[in-house]
Amino acid sequence: MGMEEKHSNRNQYNRNLLKMFLLAMMLVMLFNVLVVQRLAEQQVRSVDYGTFLSMLEGSELSAVQLEDNEVFFVDNANQIYRTNAIAQDYQLVERLDKAGVKFNKVYQKQSLLETIFVDWIIPFLPLMLFFYLVNRRASRSKGAGGLGFNSMMFGGGRSGAKEYVVKEGEVIKFSDVAGQDEAKESLAEIVDFLKNPQKYTEIGAKMPKGALLVGPPGTGKTLLAKAVAGEAGVPFFSIAGSEFVEMFVGMGASKVRDLFRQAGEKAPCIVFIDEIDTIGKKRDSGSGMGGNDEREQTLNQLLTEMDGFDATKGVVILAATNRPETLDPALLRPGRFDRRVPVELPDLKGREAILNLHARKIKLSAGIDMNVIARMTSGASGAELANIINEAALGAIRNDRNQVIQADLQEAVDTILAGAQKKNAILSEKEKQIVAYHEVGHALLAALQSHSAPVQKITIIPRTSGALGFTMQVEEGQKNLMSREEMLAKIATFTAGRAAEEVVFGSITNGASNDIEQATKLARAMVTRYGMSKEFDMIALETVNNAYMGGDASLACSETTAAEVDRIVTEIVKEQHQKAIEILKANRRKLDEISMFLYQKETITGEEFMEILTRKESLPEPEKN
Ligand code: ADP
Ligand code: MG
Ligand code: ZN
Repeated sequence: MGMEEKHSNRNQYNRNLLKMFLLAMMLVMLFNVLVVQRLAEQQVRSVDYGTFLSMLEGSELSAVQLEDNEVFFVDNANQIYRTNAIAQDYQLVERLDKAGVKFNKVYQKQSLLETIFVDWIIPFLPLMLFFYLVNRRASRSKGAGGLGFNSMMFGGGRSGAKEYVVKEGEVIKFSDVAGQDEAKESLAEIVDFLKNPQKYTEIGAKMPKGALLVGPPGTGKTLLAKAVAGEAGVPFFSIAGSEFVEMFVGMGASKVRDLFRQAGEKAPCIVFIDEIDTIGKKRDSGSGMGGNDEREQTLNQLLTEMDGFDATKGVVILAATNRPETLDPALLRPGRFDRRVPVELPDLKGREAILNLHARKIKLSAGIDMNVIARMTSGASGAELANIINEAALGAIRNDRNQVIQADLQEAVDTILAGAQKKNAILSEKEKQIVAYHEVGHALLAALQSHSAPVQKITIIPRTSGALGFTMQVEEGQKNLMSREEMLAKIATFTAGRAAEEVVFGSITNGASNDIEQATKLARAMVTRYGMSKEFDMIALETVNNAYMGGDASLACSETTAAEVDRIVTEIVKEQHQKAIEILKANRRKLDEISMFLYQKETITGEEFMEILTRKESLPEPEKN
């Protein structure tokens, strides 16, 4: 793929330093062996025991040192001698005493640790100091702060961004990511840009500088980012947000600077910042006391780099997070991560595709039905599904089989999802049913009231936002004006999820809290801002505080009026809720039919929805009651 050859100057520089370092180490070794030991040997003269005794008796010695197997001694001319110790010489101590020589007994030779320290570390210290200084100067001149030593020794640029070096046959492609068709589609343009940047620059088009992959853990965000690099055939720098937040102040910012410099040298390429929320959290103005300074500095540097970057160069910045709501809004402004790519949990079809993809790596017995497994794993992430396949293979080995059978898979589902069930929103069958009816309730009301926009997609896959299901409506074109009827229809649609639960199950859940909030907000605005109630007519009862900050409004009226507003708002919502119940009752068969279909498929398109809705009835509607 040609991804390995180019090395930045920086890498080259590090590599040279490493070579020098190794060479120096060898020199020290050689010096140690040839010079130090030889010298030591030359200084000590070996003699036999008899000579030792006669020298001792002749009072020629000034000191004696007894060791386990040897005796070292010094004569009056300071010459050192050694001789082999005689274990049976019991009178030696007496003799030494008589001769009046200083002597001591050493039971152990220099310990290994001492040897290492004295012979190896000490000669090495000046060298280490030298290298440290050299490297520090190099770092300074590149405009970054210290701590180069480690990275110099252990490779890599100082940003810690690993260039994801792709070897032949290991390239990750879009085909390695199953499901996630929408995400792939929106990333395909980035791939095209990386492949043919001139096509875009010629026409003057600017590519988005950054795309933010948003979705729950394990849904394949990292995998997708790698696949973009693989498809485009460009280098891939990846770094986790947590790696930026280092122990030394200023390191994070300098890492960011470094990362972008490296990327600039290798363009076209991809920079991938995983877990961007760890550095990209909202900067709260009240934080005051240190602590967050480091993170903020890092974030500021990131923003600066993104702004200063020439997008035409072909560096695309991808980032991933599973907590988009915590991100600093500055990161999401145009020219930064202005493109958002949702990477949601897979639906039934997606799950089956992921299972099959990973199953290619293992041996399956004939007659495996992955669809069954996919059905059992609603709400599971791609990573969990990959785990299930692996666990099934392990199960087969445990049972002395060389093929995975259906039972292994079933068991693996239990093992893997038992833990996940608790921590994630994996829906029970009953819950799935309720959510399906709830969502179809919304969709039916939207479709059956002429003023409402048709639905585009309905899903009962839990979303990143925490919603268990979701009905996406299409707004037709630009809409600046909304009539009173349309608003009422919208309120009815908001209440229809709950209404469906009531109609079908006769009981209600807490799943409608967001619907309730939105219905109330709209009804209130009708009364207080749009002059749509006969009671108050065109009286402004609310002032909008700051139209730019999302239009916070506060009541500007007396308490009695406020109470009256509440009463009217309640009435509006109640009336629409009732209308929703009636419409759903009148269309109970369609409600059942579509809900069952959604329950089975987990995600249905607007067309599928309309197809069932407009299909000629095979059975009459049941009697109304
Ligand atoms: P994320 O970054 O969203 O947390 P990853 O990309 O790290 O998730 O996915 C972890 C692993 O799960 C992947 O390496 C892959 O084996 C598996 N996986 C997740 N999603 C998919 C998918 N859509 N298709 C195939 N494998 C997937
Ligand atoms: Mg990841
Ligand atoms: Zn709802």
